[in-house]
Amino acid sequence: MALFETKSALRESELPKLQTKSGELLIQIRACAVCRTDLHVIDGDLPDPKLALIPGHQIVGHIVERGPNAHRYDVGDRVGIPWLAWTCGSCRYCKSGQENFCDSAQFTGYTRDGGSAEFAVIDERFCVGTPDSCGDAETAPLLCAGMIGSRSLMKTGDAHRLGIFGFGAAAVLITQVAVYEGREIYVFTRSKNNQELARSLGVFWVGNSEHPPMAKVWMRRSCLRHPEQSYRLRCELFVREALSFVAEST
Ligand SMILES: [Zn+2]
Ligand SMILES: [Zn+2]
Repeated sequence: MALFETKSALRESELPKLQTKSGELLIQIRACAVCRTDLHVIDGDLPDPKLALIPGHQIVGHIVERGPNAHRYDVGDRVGIPWLAWTCGSCRYCKSGQENFCDSAQFTGYTRDGGSAEFAVIDERFCVGTPDSCGDAETAPLLCAGMIGSRSLMKTGDAHRLGIFGFGAAAVLITQVAVYEGREIYVFTRSKNNQELARSLGVFWVGNSEHPPMAKVWMRRSCLRHPEQSYRLRCELFVREALSFVAEST
């Protein structure tokens, strides 16, 4: 499926067979997830996309051909193709491990063709290996939403209580990881559907960002109700009341 003009529908198209250059791989695509950024590209919100363009940058597929000097993977290997498709390798960002800031960077499904197709060509340095334990469709969203989410989650260190603003794909994925790790998650999202989804994933509190999170509300309520009690006891009462509220609302 190709985009010939921004703000227009994708059209099914027959395109010439792809050729690999040095260091590139030809991938037979098994799955390609859709990201909000794909919609921004199609809507013309991002400047100067390649046109005609095959969108999609969360691609999973098998290597069917290796170009000259491509030795990192074998034919038949399954790989993932993310947003970052190429960088110069010589600027200060590339040399300091921050190649995502490279001024000459190219991007899958934006300045290079992406994954809404049967085949794609990618520089092997920007592929990622994908373990066989996860299916093609389940692996594809990890290549953008999962990467963004895991980067954010890592920055929280070992914090027990996490607040998540908005509940898009990255949030949905890292919430599952954080809940599995036993963390207490507060989700701020306006959409009722997203609130339901967050609850179904086992988060501690869900609401929109106009409402203060429940820990704060219950703590204040506990202080007002039991002003004569010590701080320690008010904390205990808070925990008891908050837990009974959670039990009632689930
Ligand atoms: Zn994306
Ligand atoms: Zn660079």
